[in-house]
Amino acid sequence: MEIWNRHFECMDRNELKQVQNERLRETVERVYFNVPYYRHKMQEAGLGPENINSIDDLSKLPFTIKNDLRENYPFGLFAVPMSEIVRVHASSGTTGKPTVVGYTRNDIAIWSEVMARTLTSAGATRNDFIQIAYGYGLFTGGLGLHYGGEKIGASVIPISGGNTTRQIQLMHDFGSTVLACTPSYALYLSEAIQESGINRDDLKLRVGVFGAEPWTENMRREIEEKLRIKAIDIYGLSEVIGPGVASECMEQNGLHINEDHFIPEIINPDSLEVLPEGSVGELVFTTITKEGLPLIRYRTRDLTRLSFEKCRCGRTMVRMDKCLGRSDDMLIIRGVNLFPSQVESILLEMSEIKPHYQLIVDRVNNLDTLELKVEVEEEFFLDKISQLESLRQKIQNNLENALGLSIKVTLVEPKVIERSEGKSKHVIDNRKF
Ligand SMILES: [Zn+2]
Repeated sequence: MEIWNRHFECMDRNELKQVQNERLRETVERVYFNVPYYRHKMQEAGLGPENINSIDDLSKLPFTIKNDLRENYPFGLFAVPMSEIVRVHASSGTTGKPTVVGYTRNDIAIWSEVMARTLTSAGATRNDFIQIAYGYGLFTGGLGLHYGGEKIGASVIPISGGNTTRQIQLMHDFGSTVLACTPSYALYLSEAIQESGINRDDLKLRVGVFGAEPWTENMRREIEEKLRIKAIDIYGLSEVIGPGVASECMEQNGLHINEDHFIPEIINPDSLEVLPEGSVGELVFTTITKEGLPLIRYRTRDLTRLSFEKCRCGRTMVRMDKCLGRSDDMLIIRGVNLFPSQVESILLEMSEIKPHYQLIVDRVNNLDTLELKVEVEEEFFLDKISQLESLRQKIQNNLENALGLSIKVTLVEPKVIERSEGKSKHVIDNRKF
């Protein structure tokens, strides 16, 4: 398998550390002298650039959170004059102001480079036809993949999201070999292809690069079976650069982080302490090459684990596990950590139920209680009461075996659980803290 940038992606880890040390020092100087916000925060912590000599000093630096970007809306955290900025992206916040990110010409070159690595690690080459069904525009997905695709010399189809009929037509007529979109859209597309009457054998699709939302291993299996492709997980966030922060190789066993550009740390989201190697915790990134919007110890809220074990693909860059969920989503039930995505992946394995569910958390007599409401497929709901009860018991047992938690399960008719904008609200926490 090809590796786009063998020099960096397979670099000896001691040598890599030297590169990181040097780039970190440059970045700290850049933000200290160019971004008043960072200068004040460092001064408050009694720090100057001279105190940060290597990545071992990283934990001395203060964290940055999404709200810091909002409070400095729109361009307050940019480290270069606007005349140096060639591109601006923004993510729409659910509340309040959007998060704005800016790129210099050099930042765009780095972004293209890490996206070229991403696509190459998914097996794409100049001989591929890449159909980019991520949204183009202020969102970083479409243009991120676009520049990476052009950099490796592939033929790029900038079709953007939506218009499923045309997606399928072009996929067929142009012979697209690589599909880039969100995993949920890939699933949707797979069903639409089946319904379209187009024979799968007439499509040349071989691989998919999917990201921008968390997805389970079960979902991967489903996409791979239905589309008959290899489904590769990619990871990124606009604040750090967009897609291209990390990506799976063909081993599909963790996502290699582009550590020569982004230094990862894993912290305890409550105590903010850096956790030892191998622990699950919140992922934090420090960018060390970005000019427009460098970020120091940016808290992603994504929960994962790092693995420094050697990968069979030959890359030496650390791997992160597929994201387990967001630290905001994590529930602590009677001292046990629980992510709604864990419940979801267990439910997805059972054909009798729909993936529409709701977890209701409460506290009775100082004890946490957890109830799961889940919708049953139409044909099963019409079955005998006794059969429903045995299905209910089966779900309860499966959950308890997998999670070590007893959860009260209630079966409900299809379409009972409220949907907001097509998505269900998965957790209702009635506990008062
Ligand atoms: Zn690998």
